[in-house]
Amino acid sequence: MLQDLDQLIQLQALDGEISVLEGAIAAIPNQIRTLEQQFVRAKAALDAATGEVEQLQKLRRQKERELEEAGRELKKRQGRLFEIKTNQEYTAALKEVEGLKQKISTLEEEILIGLDAIDDAVKIRDQEAEKVRLAEAEFLKNKQQREEELHALQNRLSILRKARERRSANVEASLLQLYLRLLKSRDGLAVANATGRSCEGCHVTLTPQLYNEVRRNEAIRTCEGCGRILYWKE
Ligand SMILES: [Zn+2]
Repeated sequence: MLQDLDQLIQLQALDGEISVLEGAIAAIPNQIRTLEQQFVRAKAALDAATGEVEQLQKLRRQKERELEEAGRELKKRQGRLFEIKTNQEYTAALKEVEGLKQKISTLEEEILIGLDAIDDAVKIRDQEAEKVRLAEAEFLKNKQQREEELHALQNRLSILRKARERRSANVEASLLQLYLRLLKSRDGLAVANATGRSCEGCHVTLTPQLYNEVRRNEAIRTCEGCGRILYWKE
């Protein structure tokens, strides 16, 4: 086999593997982001559950303030009952006192119900916090795996690139230029197998004469359809 052709076949194999590796490396950041989504969703659920607890606690404080105020008001009005001179005023004041007592009783009941609601909300929040903890651990574990994988792929890529460089140096300059041009313009495949009488790259059938020449592997021959460098393999 022509030495240059042999070098190009090997170079093409290296470039093929390099291209696959580059694709795998480029995909990893996205894979990590996808893994992170579950963790992010768990955090959002925890934020919502925490917000619910805070909201209920705020409501409880508000009702406690109302209760205190109603208590003070009740004492004040009860204290004044003795100062009242007429029956009519007394009846009205007593009605107000009763109203306040009713209000206090309602508030006390609402506060108790609110405390139950807070307990439930706290339970839910704690469950969500546990989910976040698990999701984070899972995410970090997977992320680390992907990063280790990335590291291994990068090492392999660096080895292949060095091998590629060494091999390129062995190919005659104008032929290397042709190869590189084809690699770029023909979707990463510059050197095509034509063992089955058709070009691996564009599937055009070779003329009998071209096929006979390609079969000998003794000259650089290119495809009439796509211009790729052709070779034959037993
Ligand atoms: Zn072709």
